[in-house]
This record gives sequence, C-alpha cells and structure tokens, in this order.
Amino acid sequence: MDVTNGEVSFWWRQAGRPDGRPALDGDLDCDVCIVGGGLTGLWTAYWLTAHDPSLEVVVLEAEFAGYGASGRNGGWLTAELSGSKERYAATHGREGVQALVGAMERAVDEVIAICRDEGIDADIVKSGLLHVARSPAQLVRMREVLGSDAAWGIEEDHQRELDAGETAERVRVEGALGSVFSPHGARVQPARLVAGVAELVERRGVRILERTRVSRIAPGRAVTDDGEVRARSVLRCLEGYTASIRGQRRAWLPMNSAIVVTEPLDPATWTSIGWDGSELLGDFANAYCYAQHTADGRIALGGRGIPYRYGSRTDVDGQTQDWTIESLVHTLHRLFPATQDVRLDHAWCGVLGVPRDWCASVAYDATSGLGSAGGYVGSGLTTTYLAGRTLADLALGRDSALTGLPWVGREVRRWEPEPFRWLGVRSMYGLYRAADRREDGGLEHPSRLARLGDRLTGR
Ligand SMILES: Cc1cc2nc3c(=O)[nH]c(=O)nc-3n(C[C@H](O)[C@H](O)[C@H](O)COP(=O)(O)OP(=O)(O)OC[C@H]3O[C@@H](n4cnc5c(N)ncnc54)[C@H](O)[C@@H]3O)c2cc1C
Repeated sequence: MDVTNGEVSFWWRQAGRPDGRPALDGDLDCDVCIVGGGLTGLWTAYWLTAHDPSLEVVVLEAEFAGYGASGRNGGWLTAELSGSKERYAATHGREGVQALVGAMERAVDEVIAICRDEGIDADIVKSGLLHVARSPAQLVRMREVLGSDAAWGIEEDHQRELDAGETAERVRVEGALGSVFSPHGARVQPARLVAGVAELVERRGVRILERTRVSRIAPGRAVTDDGEVRARSVLRCLEGYTASIRGQRRAWLPMNSAIVVTEPLDPATWTSIGWDGSELLGDFANAYCYAQHTADGRIALGGRGIPYRYGSRTDVDGQTQDWTIESLVHTLHRLFPATQDVRLDHAWCGVLGVPRDWCASVAYDATSGLGSAGGYVGSGLTTTYLAGRTLADLALGRDSALTGLPWVGREVRRWEPEPFRWLGVRSMYGLYRAADRREDGGLEHPSRLARLGDRLTGR
C-alpha cells in the first residue's frame, strides 16, 4: 500500500522528533523517579515541581518523550470518563462520580490554559465533540447513553441531542440520523502537546533521560541496564507498556488502536462534507471510530484494528497491518463518500492500557513510595493531566479534593494468563464487529452480540 506506515505517527513526522536527550549513564539519586515519558509522567512532573520547585525529579523514558500513545493519539482532549460510572459509584457513590465528571471538564480547560500561558502551540481549538448515530440501532444506543447520563445527574450543559438536520449543519456524515454534541472537547495535535509539556518541565529543572529502558521497579529504585535510579518515590507511568516491567505482565492489557490520515482535502471536498469547524467526530458503533479535522485540512480517523497482540506484545514504531488500514479507509469512505478519491498519507498504531475492570486508577503507597497512574481505556488525553496532578498530590502527601476521587487507590485483579486473555479480547471484538454488521444491515435495536462480548471480558 502506497502510504507511510509507522514512523511512530504522522503527528511526529509533522512536528519533527525532538533532538536526542541524554540517556542514563550510571547510578543516580533524586527525590522522585518517574518511569515513562508520556503525558502521565510529564504532567506528574509538572505538578510535583509546581508544588515544590526544589524537588529533584528524573523521568526515565525507553525511547523519546512522547514516543508512546501520548504522541500518537487521535487528539481528542475531552471530558469523557475512563471507565464505568457504576463501578466508580460502587466505592464512592453518586457524588463521587459527579465529582470525577466535573474534574474532567475542568481539566480540559486547565490543559488549554497551561498551553496558552506557556506558549505551547498544539493546534488546540475547543469546538466540542460530536458523536453521530448512523443506524436505528446506534440511535437507540445513543438515547440509552443520554438517558443513563441524565439519571447520573449529568447536566444538560454537558451534552445535548441534535436531530439529523442539526447534525448535518455541523458535519454531513452519510446516513446520520442524529447525534450528541458536547462542548467539552478540543482538537489537539498530540505530538506538539507532549513535546511542549516535556520542554516546559525541563525549564522547571526536571531531568528527562531518554533511551533508558527500565526493567524492574522496587521500593526506592528503578533498575535499567545502564544503572539504577534511587529515589524516595518511584512512579510507574507506562499505560500500555506496563507489561514491560518485571512482574507486571498481566496488570494492564496493551490494547491496540490505529489511525489513518489523508492528504489535505481540496476546498470542494470540504464543502461537500460541510465540516467547517474543528469538532471532534465519533460514532455509536460497537467497534467505534474517532476522527478529527486537522489544522492543515486533513481528516485523521482512528479505530481499533487488530485489538491485541498475543503475550501483551506491542508494535514496532507504530507499524500497523494492511488489514487495519483497509478497514479504517472503508470506514472513512462510508462516513464521507466524497473522500473516495482522496489519497491516504500516513497510517500508524499504538497501545493504550486496559485494566481487568476497565476503569482507570491512580495509586500511591506512602510506605513503599511506589505509585502509578493509567488504565485509561482509550480516554487518556485529558485523563493523563488529571491523573498526573492527582499522583503528584499523593506523592507529596497533599490531602486535596483530587485525592478523594473514586479512581484513587482502586484495587484491580490481574488479567488471565495466555491464551485466555488473547482469546477473550479477540472474541470480544469479533462479536462487536458481527453486531455492527447486523446493526448496519437494518436491525432496529442494538445487537445482543455486543453485550455478550462485554461479558466475555468483564467490560
Ligand atoms: C492510536 C491511539 C489513539 C488514541 N486516541 C485518544 C484520543 O483521541 N483521546 C484520548 O483521550 N485518548 C486517546 N488515546 C489514549 C491516550 O493516548 C493514552 O491513554 C495516553 O496518551 C497515555 O499516556 P501515558 O503517558 O500514560 O502513556 P504513554 O504515552 O504510552 O507513555 C508511556 C511511555 O513509556 C515509555 N516506556 C515504555 N516502556 C518503558 C520502560 N520499560 N521504561 C521506560 N519507559 C518506557 C514509552 O516509550 C512511552 O513514551 C489513544 C491511544 C492510541 C494508542
């Protein structure tokens, strides 16, 4: 296929990779050692140094800061919750869920404000988020979501239903029967965001050491082939790469997600699509897609592709399979037939972290000094900020409103050994796709196959 595949991501190709930072060279002592140079680690470093500028903070990164999902994602900076409201409510009640939703909404604006104040130019535009229903079954599911959110006391200003005509006024998606619009969403160029945050924390004195792969974490130390870093607190911020640490292979499952990006569309194609703003665009399919209108006039569209690689393996520099590219292009053409002749420029994939209960967590044990944050199940861009800020509070012993949120200190069991987790996740997505085919074929109600898929993996 004549398309750039991998090279980490189109976003990094566009932004230019950072000049190499130094690697760890021998043993080192510091106050806080952060393992993983994605947005979770970097926002944690940001808030640690904001509260205590004298802290010596070191970030250890296997490749370069932003190499993982933080530099490859769909650029959806939204207030979407990572995980199930029911599960968070089981420990913290209805108020706990509402507090988390409110914190996520504020976090979107806080990230935008920091970028503005610190001169981080990440093509950020807050135009909201549009989820489109393209079949009667998707419309039923959409209304179920709206009804359930209303029952949780999630206010009208969080999201509202649009009919087919109102939807088309924003974006003309083929076959759209209606949509939900939320104002709490901003379009972002992910590599520019993570590069900007990395430079920001360096200006505050944080040391980022690249090409430094951690193999083991223990109280007071992170171990690499080139030496060990000793610190009072060691924070694991690896999301989809958590299995690379000894003893963590079955903690968070590395779920794959892939994206294709077109060449810039000509004005006539944009006119026929009518997507004049920068709204983020998704659908209500079981194997859903997510898209953005990039600052330079392209469409970037992502979806699951191959969901999971046997043995918790991860990709090589974002290279994805032809099958995944073809399936995403098929989705693009179905949503926007006018893109049929538009050339594809780049395709890539990455991994995000999925815990066994499909809910995010932030944890810190003051006795051992070990902490972690992640498991955002695909809604991780805003969440990295809120989780990083919370982890910094926990590590500093600050008793804040954030440290009382329902995802703090969640105990989650591990995934099953292979081949069971491979079979479970692959079967779940097989059922999702079968359900989508039935729903696209005219089924009036959501197919039960998808719920069967959820039950298989405890989603
Ligand atoms: C294709 C894709 C699209 C997505 N789209 C969206 C979206 O639009 N909106 C949204 O909210 N979320 C999205 N997500 C999820 C979101 O991007 C992630 O949840 C989030 O970026 C996780 O950030 P992180 O810092 O925790 O992990 P990462 O960004 O993955 O960072 C972990 C870092 O650790 C490094 N590392 C790995 N192993 C080691 C080791 N042993 N030692 C040291 N360092 C190591 C990696 O190189 C990496 O840089 C998407 C994810 C993917 C993959």
